[in-house]
Formats: sequence, C-alpha cells, structure tokens
Amino acid sequence: MIKTEGLILKEQSVGENDKLVTILTRTHGIIRCFSRRAKKFSSAVSSACQVMTYSRLEIYEGRDKYIINSAEVVKSFFDAFADIENLALGYYICESAMKMIPENMPADDYLQLVLNCLYAISIRKKSLTQIKAVFELRMMILSGVSPNILFCNECGAYESEDGSMYFDPIENVLYCPQCCFRSAASNKCLSVSMGCITALRFCMTAEPKKILSFSLSPSSMKDMEKFSERFFLSQNNFYCKTLDFYKNVKGLN
Ligand SMILES: [Zn+2]
Repeated sequence: MIKTEGLILKEQSVGENDKLVTILTRTHGIIRCFSRRAKKFSSAVSSACQVMTYSRLEIYEGRDKYIINSAEVVKSFFDAFADIENLALGYYICESAMKMIPENMPADDYLQLVLNCLYAISIRKKSLTQIKAVFELRMMILSGVSPNILFCNECGAYESEDGSMYFDPIENVLYCPQCCFRSAASNKCLSVSMGCITALRFCMTAEPKKILSFSLSPSSMKDMEKFSERFFLSQNNFYCKTLDFYKNVKGLN
C-alpha cells in the first residue's frame, strides 16, 4: 500500500461507476489510479478525487494498475476556481504538470510549485499573468532547463545601458543590444527590459515560498509574460490546449 499526498490533475469516467484519476503524488510523481464506485456513492473518497483537490491517499498497488483505497481532502482549490480566468490558468497548470512531471519517482519540488501556484491563484495576491510566468519558469528549472540570462552570450555584459537585453528563446541565449544587432539571430530575439531580467534572475534562485515576491511595471510584466511563455513552449515539445482556453478567456487570442 502506498501512503502519500497528491493533487488530482484530471478525472475521467470509466464505465458506469468508476473513475480514472491522474494524480501528482509526493512520492511517486504522476500516477493514474482507478477509483472504484466513486460515482455511485457520493462519498468522502469521491470529493477527495475531484480535480484540483489536494488529498491524503492510500493507494493499492495491483499487478497492472493502481487503485485508490482511501482518500481524504486536505485542501480543495476547486471552489476558488468559480472564476473562469482562475479556472483556465488552473487547468493549464494541471495539463503542463501532466505532460512534464515524470512518472513513478518522487516529485516533492514539483508538487510544492504546483500547490503554491494554485494557492496564489485562489487568493489572487498576484496577477494571473505573474503566476503563470513564474510557474512556467520554475517548471523549466525543475525539469533541468534554466534560461541562460546571466550574461550576454557574446561579450559577457551583465546589464545594458539602454535598459533592454535580447533573448533568443529557441537557442536559449541572451544578448546585449550591440551583440544582438550583430548576430544572425536578431530577428527571432525578444526584447526584454532590465527590470524583467532582474525579476527573472530573482525568480530563478528564490526559495520556493518567495517565488512570487516581486513587483514589476506593467510593461516589464508584459515582457516577462512573453519571455516565460516563449521559453516554455520553445523548449518543450508539446502543445497545451488549455493554453488556448486561458488565452481566450483572458482575451489574449
Ligand atoms: Zn554583448
């Protein structure tokens, strides 16, 4: 029997009475478990197996599948997601987590990041734009791909006097303005304000509870939104349909 905690990322009906739930667990990363009779009886187990619920779980390890033996709600985020924008970002976070987090290995850091972001969405202490950008950046770092934003790739400059640096999200390199204009990559580079670069550098090294503890001007926040999303999508080879949903409800498409 596996005893762990986990966040429910997805639920699907199977047959008349059963559900198949995808869970981000602390001890086993992403796993898929059957939840027997969860639909038939509106039991405590059933509410602990709802999407965006963080639950204490006992999972029976069968020969070829996992089956939930007992489940108890620790914290449900679902009510906080009555707001459609909150919900859309929550879904995007869950879908990205399902695609990126390994199966059957400890996932403490990932779980903490996802829970921190869902909690931040639920209390709206920071804008959704900021939470999304920080989530994308830290997910990449946890999966082993940090953005190279400490120095200009060519001349080693740490900052630029004219207030912006340039980032190539595909090659993952930073340029100062002079080196960017000289390089062949200049047309695919994003212009990123120094304010945004400073926030990104902070966010890369901040301890998990502090990752959202910064403020940016609206224009630097726009840079960060673009930076994180382009970096995230360029470095990952997948498409998230929930990202389109998020952009639609935010009026960004
Ligand atoms: Zn340079």
